[in-house]
Amino acid sequence: MTVQSVFPALEQLLPRVQKPVQYVGGELNAVVKPWEDATVRWCLMYPDAYEVGIPNQGVQILYEVLNERADTLCERTYAVWPDLEKLMRENGVPQFTVDAHRPVGAFDALGVSFSTELGYTNMLTAIDLAGVPLHAVDRDETHPLVIAGGHAAFNPEAISMFIDGAVLGDGEQAVLAITDIIADFKAQGSPGGRDELLMRLAKSGVMYVPAFYDVEYLEDGRIRRVSPNRPGVPWRVAKHTVMDLDEWPYPKAPLVPIAESVHERMSVEIFRGCTRGCRFCQAGMITRPVRERSMTTIADMVANGLEKTGYEEIGLLSLSSADHSEIAEIAKGLADRYEDSQTSLSLPSTRVDAFNIDLANELSRNGRRSGLTFAPEGGSERIRKVINKMVTEEDLIRTVTAAYASGWRQVKLYFMCGLPTEEDEDVLQIARLAHEVIKAGREASGRKDIRCTVSIGGFVPKPHTPFQWAAQLDHETTDSRLYKLRDAIRQDREFGKSIGVRYHDGKPGVVEGLLSRGDRRVGKVIEQVWRDGQRFDGWSEHFSYDRWMAAAEIAFADEPVDVNWYTIRERELSEVLAWDHLDSGLDKEWLWDDWQDALSEVEVDDCRWTPCFDCGVCDHMGTEIQVGPTNAVMLPMPVIPSRVVANSGA
Ligand code: SF4
Repeated sequence: MTVQSVFPALEQLLPRVQKPVQYVGGELNAVVKPWEDATVRWCLMYPDAYEVGIPNQGVQILYEVLNERADTLCERTYAVWPDLEKLMRENGVPQFTVDAHRPVGAFDALGVSFSTELGYTNMLTAIDLAGVPLHAVDRDETHPLVIAGGHAAFNPEAISMFIDGAVLGDGEQAVLAITDIIADFKAQGSPGGRDELLMRLAKSGVMYVPAFYDVEYLEDGRIRRVSPNRPGVPWRVAKHTVMDLDEWPYPKAPLVPIAESVHERMSVEIFRGCTRGCRFCQAGMITRPVRERSMTTIADMVANGLEKTGYEEIGLLSLSSADHSEIAEIAKGLADRYEDSQTSLSLPSTRVDAFNIDLANELSRNGRRSGLTFAPEGGSERIRKVINKMVTEEDLIRTVTAAYASGWRQVKLYFMCGLPTEEDEDVLQIARLAHEVIKAGREASGRKDIRCTVSIGGFVPKPHTPFQWAAQLDHETTDSRLYKLRDAIRQDREFGKSIGVRYHDGKPGVVEGLLSRGDRRVGKVIEQVWRDGQRFDGWSEHFSYDRWMAAAEIAFADEPVDVNWYTIRERELSEVLAWDHLDSGLDKEWLWDDWQDALSEVEVDDCRWTPCFDCGVCDHMGTEIQVGPTNAVMLPMPVIPSRVVANSGA
């Protein structure tokens, strides 16, 4: 069976939509394989617009891993904007891939990577436009398997009725294992149809299949229990962990966007995982343990990636890049190598306490000093103890003073509002801290034109973190706290004009909170709001809080729960959480103890540098911390001539 490109029909519509170039594909390093030559065909989706989706590392890595297999082809699709969606519906054009414009409905599997839950409504649009039934239960052998991945897959219960499966954790080995199972199943003539294929996937443990689990509820709305409804299906589904990143040096040939995108740089992941133990941070908790990529592999990936892409900026990615045990050598080695070229270096994520001025100078050698970004997260020392962000005011002032003294003019500080136990005073401390930063910076630099921007986001409690039991702050209190902070900074006559404030209102956080700690009943809200026209929830111009609340009212009409029940309610240890059967490796008791430590303002160290404190992950998952120093030598490498322009900060 061959599959025709939908491009001739799509092309007719493109002159009538905004930014049509995002739908044409043909990027440098894109892969198009003959349809007939492949046994298993994957379509990967990042459920947001092309400009946000194309730089996504997860999709780029899996796209290559899958396309390297001779028996497999993999293409990509992104969310289409509402203007094109309307025209596609009117003209019968289905959801398509950007690689060969093949209809998404013809693939064996549609893998959707969620960095955030705010992509859920866009997934429904794609499934529907693909001609695939919205509900997994209505699909048959002719439809692709819809598989969720990414961080939100650690609690996919809210979208369980729309997906066939969810993959927890690192995807590299998991997608290959799924491909093997699909290939075998097809080679055998697809015995038992879709149900049998899903059973094979579920039994192997590679993927969580929600349909094979029943959820029972107590009268008050809490969950009584979640249990498998088929023999042989595991009670708990575990995450996947890639243990040797050097064996998986992807992406080897990063895609170069054809249209404008949010990150125009080549990214190399220098390590995965983080054990700093920030209690709000789901990414840190679910990606344990730390696994470093070696300095030599990083250097090879940078050299190879630059050659294949022509990019002039290298982003060294991880959850806290300056924590790599050999970051100084890596930064120096790369700066030496690309000295006098146009190639710049950046560490998009840097902790205050891991950053030092030598590193900063290395990153900016011979180049301009644009902004630096740090994330103290909590405004007061007390709240930083609650969240286990062990950054003292002294650390912060010392770091930014050094930065201003070394020529930086602009520092960005990121904070959260709505953290557990937080009072107005904790947030107002941000104004005082910014004041001190400017004061110290002016003294150190002798200049008056330095600036500090404080950027504040609303805190949303996430599954698999010690704050999974916490009450989320209501949006009215969040907003009033942020207004008080804004006023306090405006009233700072001495330095107020040197301090910028950026914040969003608290309403999107309520919806994110509903979705991230949601259970299966929340699926009805998602479907309702999508049917009411909701799309692109991550975009303020498309997000409608009122539409979400109206949908929740309808969907929860016969349930003993409402939006507040999911968001501002604190949970007890005894409560069965919607994601308890999904195993991130963390012991629930350890998480609870850490939650109690948070309430007592007790900090926990990083297990990279202190003895293991038994969070459960390594024992459970058969993994271990992998950190250097390796003492491997990155140089000698040929120095690439011309001019270095380097910067740090996001
Ligand atoms: S089990 Fe121990 S070593 Fe492994 S991540 Fe947890 S605390 Fe760290």
